[in-house]
Amino acid sequence: MSNPTVIIGGGLAGLTCATQLHAVGVEFILLESSDGVGGRVRTDNVDGFLLDRGFQVLLTAYPEAKRLFDYDALKLQAFEPGSLIRTDNGLHRMSDPWRRPQHVLQTAFAPIGSFADKVRIGRLRWSAGRGTLDSVFERPDCTTEGELRRRGFTQSMVDNFLRPFLGGVFLDQDLQTSCRMMYFVFRMFSQGDTALPADGMEAIPRQLAAGLPEDCVRLNSTVSAIDPDRVTLQSGEVIPCNHVIVATEQPAAARLLPELAASRTPRKVRCVYFSAREPPVADRMLVLNGTGLGVVNNLCVPSQVVSNYAPDGRSLVSATVLKSELDDDSLVPNVTTQMREWFGASVDEWKHLRTYTIPYALPNQTTPAFDPPIQLLKLRDDILVCGDYRTNGSINGAMQSGRLVAEEILKSG
Ligand SMILES: Cc1cc2nc3c(=O)[nH]c(=O)nc-3n(C[C@H](O)[C@H](O)[C@H](O)COP(=O)(O)OP(=O)(O)OC[C@H]3O[C@@H](n4cnc5c(N)ncnc54)[C@H](O)[C@@H]3O)c2cc1C
Repeated sequence: MSNPTVIIGGGLAGLTCATQLHAVGVEFILLESSDGVGGRVRTDNVDGFLLDRGFQVLLTAYPEAKRLFDYDALKLQAFEPGSLIRTDNGLHRMSDPWRRPQHVLQTAFAPIGSFADKVRIGRLRWSAGRGTLDSVFERPDCTTEGELRRRGFTQSMVDNFLRPFLGGVFLDQDLQTSCRMMYFVFRMFSQGDTALPADGMEAIPRQLAAGLPEDCVRLNSTVSAIDPDRVTLQSGEVIPCNHVIVATEQPAAARLLPELAASRTPRKVRCVYFSAREPPVADRMLVLNGTGLGVVNNLCVPSQVVSNYAPDGRSLVSATVLKSELDDDSLVPNVTTQMREWFGASVDEWKHLRTYTIPYALPNQTTPAFDPPIQLLKLRDDILVCGDYRTNGSINGAMQSGRLVAEEILKSG
């Protein structure tokens, strides 16, 4: 019997790779260092609340997700298209007029940017949808901020809406992320739903893992060294293998293969969860901080989208913080103060559930980036690499890299 292919890392890249190999009968062992699959897409059940480890969503337009997931089985629930924007004079609704034409006038007259800015959003959306998805990553590169200026957006449109929205997606409030990523994100948001699974985001990787033979996925197994024909675990165990696939996040990959070290600081994020008696907003929409003040960039009430996210009689509030100056002790009081300014005395009743600090949330995709759009996946004959930092920082990017590595293995026979 020949040796198996070893996949190191059970995030979406590793799971996708395993799924593709399993589909054509290639033997593999997937080694995951933590106690569950999913990597950055995990969910904790805390006192009946489903807490995703950092606020995140599935965009149903992702081609890789459409290819592999059974959306019905995930019981996806969608956010309402658009967002609520907090400015100095209250909360304003910016709907998606293409999908919610009934709100076109309200959106056109919302005091966010100018009327011309709203036409520019339409042009941006049209431009994002042009050509193939791959070609989006080959467009002329500059920062997102630069591209928004080039497109003529006013400062107020950028600061009130585009900065908190795109900054929340890229985890980069300065919008230095490549505009190629902006086009990708706009395209995905406009071509499908923004959704949460009924059982939390971890249901996504779990669905992939459920299709794999149980004895091929080993949890609590940290790889400490790799060679082309074997991997060594922290426990000292040595597993002979045919190919090695490094499907970890970038810093962990660099520990195994120093040539994969990143020269840029990754994007970090903190997510603060509260239990509330009443939801602070009734809409199933993302709330964006268009004031530039305070620590919370965006907020949402996941239990308004999926009732499972909170036990009966309570709501789950998720606040995302991008600013990193605050230490952990002063974070919650700062968030609470800001929320009280936004929503009044009802916030005094909120109970802090948990704070997640994610030091490596996304790879740094500051311009210049995606040159080439897909970084080398085959390092040496028997060592391959996948993960979102090889493609782009998204569920789709991670899955795409996993699929391409599996195809590479199949090509090499
Ligand atoms: C807070 C947050 C919000 C996000 N929001 C979104 C969103 O809304 N939409 C979206 O598309 N994307 C989002 N992303 C990005 C997306 O989650 C990631 O791009 C994707 O999940 C990365 O998958 P991956 O397989 O490349 O890496 P990971 O998920 O990091 O998986 C790597 C795995 O390797 C394991 N590992 C590491 N070292 C070893 C070792 N030595 N031995 C064995 N195993 C090891 C790790 O434990 C981990 O399970 C978000 C990410 C975060 C953190």
